[in-house]
Amino acid sequence: MPHRVLQRLISLSAKDRQQHDKSCATARQLLFLTFVLLGGAFSACAAGLQSFEAVEPHMGTLFRVKLYAASAEQAQSGFRLAFARVETLDNILSDYKPESELSRVTTLAVGRPVTVSADLFHVLVAAQQISEETAGAFDVTLGPVIRLWREARKTGRPPSPDALREAARFCGYKKMKLGAKDNTVEFEQAGMKLDLGGIAKGYAADEALVVLNKNGIKSALVAASGDLAFGDPPPGKKGWSIGIDSFDSARAPFTKTLVLANSAVSTSGDTEQYLDAGGKHYSHIIDPASDMGLTRRMTVTVVARRGLAADPFATAVDVMGAERGLAFIERQTEAAALIIVREGAAPRTIESTRFQRLPVQAN
Ligand code: ADP
Ligand code: MG
Repeated sequence: MPHRVLQRLISLSAKDRQQHDKSCATARQLLFLTFVLLGGAFSACAAGLQSFEAVEPHMGTLFRVKLYAASAEQAQSGFRLAFARVETLDNILSDYKPESELSRVTTLAVGRPVTVSADLFHVLVAAQQISEETAGAFDVTLGPVIRLWREARKTGRPPSPDALREAARFCGYKKMKLGAKDNTVEFEQAGMKLDLGGIAKGYAADEALVVLNKNGIKSALVAASGDLAFGDPPPGKKGWSIGIDSFDSARAPFTKTLVLANSAVSTSGDTEQYLDAGGKHYSHIIDPASDMGLTRRMTVTVVARRGLAADPFATAVDVMGAERGLAFIERQTEAAALIIVREGAAPRTIESTRFQRLPVQAN
């Protein structure tokens, strides 16, 4: 039986997140992914490594790092470096901070190429590639429209069609040009705004792992709410046990418990941030084709090599819907997806071919 060591911590973190994430007007009822640790994971193990865990608020959520280290000192220095890296990335990638590189570049790079940091360039290249592969379902230039919906979650009223139409004039990934030679970004129009909410946490989780790795900590897990990245398995184990919530917790707490190492898992859906208005349930994920919050009840979990892929893929599949989303995942070389459609009496579960083959924990 998997032992839910972190369950209490997870419900605590949901509460803390309400305080930290000012953008979230509604209660976060449930965290998508719950880690399940096998009993004994916290005790000293054969390799002389011990398990340590730390949590800090970053990027409007809580970042949790679990790692195995030879000493408390090594663990502490790992935590310090990993969280510092996340903070640095937040200062670059945040659309909430007017002073972030992301916020500044949208005004500086209008009609002319501007060189940006390697981190920002790397994330924008990944985002742009996914926009192309998804025919624009994933689009980080949706900032002006996303801001209207963020405001709507506060007022309780969806944005007016006029306001949406006006905001949409300043969106569109094809209006953002990237130049690989000097890491440049250029915007076709003034008034464009980027929003990396669907990709930045996955990348930050990856990068926190990289920093730990460079400092000799190979076995670690970084979780930024629904975005998880993990390195080598805990000592003596085949992988990190990751329970995928079934959204039917009374009856079946987990759909599956995956055993994963050196990969990332992200979940996207409408159960965390949403607006209920006029009898409709609008997700914080926007369909760029209509500029409306998604109203289909769907939760997508993606497993990929990196958070930089898993995070945006999960958002993109949500936008594309089960059929197109599944086809997109099947086309990728390294991604796997679990799609849970919560329409009708019972949730419908769809697993991509690669998801069906992922190692699971025998109960
Ligand atoms: P979470 O933030 O809960 O982890 P996601 O990874 O799915 O969820 O990201 C959702 C966020 O991505 C939204 O809050 C918004 O900032 C941004 N977003 C919304 N719609 C899109 C879209 N179609 N393409 C890219 N980013 C989007
Ligand atoms: Mg995402």
